[in-house]
This record gives sequence, structure tokens and C-alpha cells, in this order.
Amino acid sequence: MNLNAISKVRVIVRVRPFLPHEIDDKNGDRTPCVSVLDQDSDSGEEVSVYLKDKETSRNECYRLDSFFGQEDNNLGRIFYKEVSPLIPGIFHGCNATVFAYGATGSGKTYTMQGTDEQPGLMPLAMSTILSLCQSTGNTAEISYYEVYMDRCYDLLELKAKEIAILDDKDGHIHLRGLSRVPVKSMSEFLEALCCGIERRKVAHTGLNDVSSRSHGVLVISVSTPSGDGSGATVIGKLNLIDLAGNEDNRRACNEGIRLQESGKINQSLFALSNVIFALNNNKPRVPYRESKLTRILQDSLGGTSSALMVACLNPGEYQESVHTVSLAARSRHI
Ligand code: ADP
Ligand code: MG
Repeated sequence: MNLNAISKVRVIVRVRPFLPHEIDDKNGDRTPCVSVLDQDSDSGEEVSVYLKDKETSRNECYRLDSFFGQEDNNLGRIFYKEVSPLIPGIFHGCNATVFAYGATGSGKTYTMQGTDEQPGLMPLAMSTILSLCQSTGNTAEISYYEVYMDRCYDLLELKAKEIAILDDKDGHIHLRGLSRVPVKSMSEFLEALCCGIERRKVAHTGLNDVSSRSHGVLVISVSTPSGDGSGATVIGKLNLIDLAGNEDNRRACNEGIRLQESGKINQSLFALSNVIFALNNNKPRVPYRESKLTRILQDSLGGTSSALMVACLNPGEYQESVHTVSLAARSRHI
């Protein structure tokens, strides 16, 4: 493995199936608004993602790295093909990040957390890392936090404690006092994650389900002996991020706190796409400082880090899907 190679950010699409209640409405016509034109993702080449609006026949086409359609509804396959290649680097002190990106209801949380029958990318990654730890003797720890309105909340602390986001003199950001919990088994992991998910739901009193309007970040870190005989350790991190929904403000008619929230969300998602664009196009300057989220992730994007963006789509929402795919394609575009 060449640890010095600057890796690009892969951008892939995942279309969730129609839900039972979505199949009954509108005279039963349930053709997804999105399909792939040249599915050949096994070759690792890019694909053309085609979106078509049934009512107006408007259509758009974008180039992306890979496509997982409704008939390919197995998170294990996405994990195996797209996420597991990122894991060995973690055991060499490299960082990696997986983002789930898309509108509310497009399947981001399902992709990251999954269900008991269909585990998501978070438990699949943890389980792979735990097995590797068993054979290498390394230890894994997790942190879980949420970024809401540019503030950071530790979800492994009682009552989702707010933690300070601090600049150091080198311009790096630190999350002071963020909990790190050692994890030795899947049952320990699932217990900690479920508590965190519950806290995320109740953390913001008086506000409805902030969890879809905040970024949820699970960090799995592995410390490894540095191998230089000094007894020091290096730490590799895998960030698994359920991003806030990228609602189109003009369509959502937001006002008040919702407008402020969506302003922050759009700013951070736009900043993220600018950072990915700069990395993918070898720009000399990467604009990490444009949002709290990109600053927090600065050490995990670029350099020797690898990243994957999963653009999640609702098969019945043309306009919303165009919004998601165009931004995803824009950040990728070379
Ligand atoms: P988001 O987090 O983007 O708002 P969710 O992950 O909550 O969206 O998904 C919206 C709904 O669709 C949920 O009811 C979820 O269970 C369902 N869903 C999402 N992806 C799938 C899938 N691949 N298979 C079955 N149901 C799914
Ligand atoms: Mg969600």
C-alpha cells in the first residue's frame, strides 16, 4: 500500500427502494426517477447516472464513480466494495471518512446505521475493525458526536454535553474533552451507539427531531505501535458521518429557526463539496476553513486520508435527487 499517495474522494450513488406506502399511491406507477446508463461498476470505472422526471420528461445525466440501485439493496455489498478497502489504512495511522449525503428521507441513516436484519456501514465497519484488532492485538475506541448549528455535542456523555471546538496555534481544531470509549465487542459497540442515538434524539429540548438537521459523526479509532522502536503509538481514524439533510430552501419554505438551521446546513454542505472538489482536482488551496464541519474533519480529508461520499436518493423525488446528484457530481468533477 502506498501511504503517500494522495487519494481522491470517491462519490457513489445509492437509491433506496420505494417504501410500502409509496407504492400504493399515484396509480401504482413506481418507476424510479433515477437509473444508471452504463453499469460496469465492477471495472472500477465511472458510471453515468440518469435522472428523469415522469411528469415533465425533464432529464439530467451526471458522471459518478459507482451506482447501487434499488435491486442492489444490500448494504453488505456497498460495504464490501466501497468501505472495506479504506480499513487497512486505519491500522497504519491513516484516516478515512465515509459521508452519507442526501435529502431527508433518502436513506442516509438507514445506510449508516441499518437495522438488525440489515446492518449499516457503521456496525459493518466496527465488526471488521474488531476482527482485525483480534488478530493484530490493537485496540479500538469510539467517539460519537453531533454538529448542530456549528456547535458540537458529545453523544457518549450523559445528556449530550456540549464540547468546545478549539483552535490551536497551528490552525488545527480540537474537540476538547471528547469522550473516547474502548470497544472490545459488538455488543459493547451497539450499546454505546444506541445510547448515543437516543441522546441525539432528545438533546435539543423544544426542537423537533434535530437528528436529521445535524451532522452525526461516529469515529472509530485504532492505535497501533508506531514501529520505530520508541514505544509510541500512531492513531488511525475512520469517520462515519450521517450528514444533515440537504433540503432545498426555496422548496421547503423555511422560516425562523428552520431557516437559520438550513443556512448552517447548506453552508457546511457547500463547504464540504468545495473541499472535496479542491482535493479531487489537486487545487493548491483546500478551503477547510469555510465551515466548522470541514475544519473538524481537516485531518481526515486530503493528505494520506481516503474518503467516500454516498449520495442517497429517494426513487420518487426527481427534483430533490437532481439537487443531491448535481452537488455530488460537482464536488467530484475533474
Ligand atoms: P434519512 O436519514 O436520509 O432522512 P432514512 O434513513 O431515515 O432517511 O430513510 C427514510 C425511510 O426509508 C426510513 O423509513 C427507512 O427505514 C427507509 N429506508 C431507507 N433505505 C432503505 C432501504 N435500503 N431499504 C428499506 N428501507 C429503507
Ligand atoms: Mg436520518
